[in-house]
Amino acid sequence: KLENATIKAELGRASWKLLHTMMARFPEKPTEDDKMALKTYMQLFARLYPCGDCARHFQGLLKKYPPQVSSRNNAAGWACSMHNLVNERLHKPQFNCNNIGDFYDCGCGDEDKNKDK
Ligand code: FAD
Repeated sequence: KLENATIKAELGRASWKLLHTMMARFPEKPTEDDKMALKTYMQLFARLYPCGDCARHFQGLLKKYPPQVSSRNNAAGWACSMHNLVNERLHKPQFNCNNIGDFYDCGCGDEDKNKDK
């Protein structure tokens, strides 16, 4: 089957959206189990990402820049810089990671405000 750049880009946008939104909801003070979960998630995400070329390249980036999982801020900043590395490779503009704060909203309100904030 032919490569379809439109579909591939759509998959990318959807995936980044999920990834950054997850980081925006990662606990401010993660437990050891939370940290392990995010590290494992990223390894499996990189391994199973459906575009093989993208996955291979992203696995290389993960090796070089292991996930930062010590806090929500660190995790969100790390994911932003990973996305910027991919942007760079694809000749896309860099995103200002200082503005990531309120950019990704899951729309799920304060349902867990008593859990980890
Ligand atoms: P995207 O890069 O999809 O970004 C979507 C939106 O996120 C942007 O409009 C902007 O609002 C915001 N954004 C941009 N940069 C950041 C950032 N640093 N942090 C937070 N938010 C940001 N495509 C390929 O052709 N080759 C590849 O090798 C490849 N590898 C990929 C690897 C992974 C892990 C993923 C998830 C995607 C990959 N893609 C790859 C897809 C590619 O990254 C884009 O998603 C796709 O090209 C669509 O680009 P876009 O310009 O719409 O914006």
